[in-house]
Amino acid sequence: TAAPAAAPVTLVLAEPRGFCAGVDRAIQIVERAIERFGAPVYVRHEIVHNKTVVQDLVAKGAVFVEELDEVPDDVPVIFSAHGVPKAVPLEAARRKLLAIDATCPLVSKVHREAERHHGDGRHVLLIGHRGHPEVIGTMGQLPDGAVELIETVADAEAYAPAKGGLPLAYATQTTLSVADTAGIVTVLRRRFPDIAGPKREDICYATTNRQEAVAQIAASVQAVLVIGAPNSSNSRRLVETAASAGCANARLIQTADEIDWDRLAGVTRIGISAGASAPEILVEQVIAAFRARGPVVIERVVTAEEGVVFKLPPDLNR
Ligand code: SF4
Repeated sequence: TAAPAAAPVTLVLAEPRGFCAGVDRAIQIVERAIERFGAPVYVRHEIVHNKTVVQDLVAKGAVFVEELDEVPDDVPVIFSAHGVPKAVPLEAARRKLLAIDATCPLVSKVHREAERHHGDGRHVLLIGHRGHPEVIGTMGQLPDGAVELIETVADAEAYAPAKGGLPLAYATQTTLSVADTAGIVTVLRRRFPDIAGPKREDICYATTNRQEAVAQIAASVQAVLVIGAPNSSNSRRLVETAASAGCANARLIQTADEIDWDRLAGVTRIGISAGASAPEILVEQVIAAFRARGPVVIERVVTAEEGVVFKLPPDLNR
């Protein structure tokens, strides 16, 4: 007699997932700059935090560097979606480089907010993760010492304003955990009732929607795979969100090659999401990897519709 057919695995796809409008725009900026100016076009920092995206653009003629001093004088340079400290465009202008800014408009909005608070005579607390390029960029909008970083509820509890210091304001990184940030903001508002800040926080629509979608599926699956890079803040937050929404077996993978099949032994219902910088092809490859091992049923859980599109810089519009 034939062996019984393998039970199908149900893949529950969280929607929205993957590319956001800021990532889409940043990638298009690099592609159009290469078309317009010819290769090579230099990009300061990974344009978005994803190796597949970076490798694709390298193949088209982009050269990725970490700092401006690695960029020759006679080629265009693009600043990544995460934003840059003010000193970077200033230095590019001093060197008369052709600089194109791919900073996501929602990050630029936080930059302008921080400047406005500073202009109003407030000391700015930035809620975010130390060392992330977006945090470095936002802190770098203001003079040294004008912004302080708050990473945790404990930091918010411990923060000691200077005696007779300025009134406070806060801003946040765009890709934080919605739940964790709400906790930090609650502490700041309790301790400093006059603190100025956005109505809720500066977490962007894409981060919020992807967390909501993955939270929605987390309790109904035995495992969650989030496709994204280890240095992608919003991707890592998706794994944490899935875990706190009830799925103990939530993992970040960069590609289908990183699926740990041993951890999925006997698992028949698996949630799938992808960070804002992860292209859909990587999700398709994960689905294909499951299909190669047996029957697969696809289920979609849609928690929001997104129609956000950001304009390109004027000189790159067709
Ligand atoms: Fe912009 Fe949000 Fe996408 Fe970051 S995750 S690039 S802030 S839309």
